[in-house]
Amino acid sequence: MLKVLDSAVPIACWSCSIGHNDFTLFCPHCSKIQPPPGCDYFSVFGMEPRLSLDLPALEAEFHRLSRKLHPDRFARALENEKQWSLADTALLNDAYRTLKDPLRRTEYLLKLEGAEIGEEHSGKNRVDPSRVPADLLEEVFELNMQLEEMRAARKMGEEDLELQASLTQAKQKFQGLLEIVDKDLRAEWTAWDDGGQAARPAAQNKMVALLDRRRYLSNLLRDVNETLGD
Ligand SMILES: [Zn+2]
Repeated sequence: MLKVLDSAVPIACWSCSIGHNDFTLFCPHCSKIQPPPGCDYFSVFGMEPRLSLDLPALEAEFHRLSRKLHPDRFARALENEKQWSLADTALLNDAYRTLKDPLRRTEYLLKLEGAEIGEEHSGKNRVDPSRVPADLLEEVFELNMQLEEMRAARKMGEEDLELQASLTQAKQKFQGLLEIVDKDLRAEWTAWDDGGQAARPAAQNKMVALLDRRRYLSNLLRDVNETLGD
């Protein structure tokens, strides 16, 4: 469930004591800075949780809030306000970095919705051979053989042009597959955003599977690029 739904209870502004929703970095009544709100990243920007985001609007709001949080504006503020301006800035930066990137945004929203997904940036873990997508088993097997051969040739200081050409071809093929995944992901964004509540569970499941496939393909491509020296 989205945190948005839990945050409808007003909290009192420390300065003017008027209640407001826990979404906002600044009090809507007296404009004073507030402690970091307990809302989700979309709400920081006053946006509905959606996968197709209005990116220019996101960027504009990011810059507007960054300026309002600038340390110069808090030079003569209370110690608490200074601390909050730093904490709010950190929250704003995290929120912006996550939402502007289509994959991070998708993962974030799916997690908000309670989906269990792997980590896109979980370190340098190599392609896990047990998780090869079933339709790619044969090609991945072939590719790994070629990668091994290529590495062995490199170690010997040999240049195998035929192998290089065939790896480059495989690379293009897997890049093409990645593009298809991205296109399919965008289709599911639309289903999630505009298909109503009933369409969401199915779209969510498809996105989790697509993200898995995407992670697999990008790791594979990274291995190919490293081996080709690109
Ligand atoms: Zn206030």
